[in-house]
Amino acid sequence: MSSKKSSRPVIRQSSLNMLWRCGIQYHRRYDLGEIIPPGIAMHRGSSFHAGAAHDLRQKIASKENLPMKEVVDFALTDFEGRIGQGYVLTPEEKAIGAKKVIAEAKDSLPRFCEAFCEVVGPKIEPAWVEDAITIEIDGKCDLIGTLDCAELNSIYEFKTRSRKPPERDVHIDPQLTMYAMLFRYKTESLPVAILQENVVDRGTSANAEVVTYKTIRQETDIKVLLNRINNALDVIRNQSYVPASPTAWWCNERFCGYALTCPYYTKPEKRQEERNAGKSKT
Ligand code: SF4
Repeated sequence: MSSKKSSRPVIRQSSLNMLWRCGIQYHRRYDLGEIIPPGIAMHRGSSFHAGAAHDLRQKIASKENLPMKEVVDFALTDFEGRIGQGYVLTPEEKAIGAKKVIAEAKDSLPRFCEAFCEVVGPKIEPAWVEDAITIEIDGKCDLIGTLDCAELNSIYEFKTRSRKPPERDVHIDPQLTMYAMLFRYKTESLPVAILQENVVDRGTSANAEVVTYKTIRQETDIKVLLNRINNALDVIRNQSYVPASPTAWWCNERFCGYALTCPYYTKPEKRQEERNAGKSKT
């Protein structure tokens, strides 16, 4: 890795994550240019991040958090703007209706922001917030990544959730290893802690809950990540993309906007029809 700028190809951490999730998704999005707008839940998550960043960015100089109302209002305005730029609905959301789904997302966004303002924001002493960092990977490409927030020796990742996530994932998640690598590039040391702040709203009027998981990364983790990135660059160069496993939770119409036109996907109803046809022949 080095810091020199050049005309190397550029890859973003979000596109690498897509490739690792499903090669076909990556191919359609980045080689064929088929852009699917985000879903409502993703817009809500982005607006939550915008509210958190609005608070923490100014805290670098002021050392004070903003009033909760200002953070909530900022996030809600951001959400309106994102919805205005377009969205996709899952099959379940289509059945409910866009208006109701958007209204529910708008109702829950303040609960996410309030939990952030009460529990997460006050404990952070931000050194930088959502800064894009570029790293040269073995002379092959420039990798651009963004950390949600960092203190002088720790990293924070913010997540919006509808249920409490399992803790084991934070200890192996390549995304968090990527953050550690970006942090090391910027500060020349690995972070002493990576804190994942999961704001969990279960869709009721009760307050959202914050579940914090702490992990670390070591040099061996960075080496493994670099191996994965080099493998991903080979896959992209050779266009040797592999579809997601049909058992992956994201390989369906609810979570993949390409599913209905994907040659590697069978609709569950079609599978059932074929099973029924098979039974009637025996
Ligand atoms: S339906 Fe599955 S295999 Fe097809 S693009 Fe989506 S995630 Fe990939």
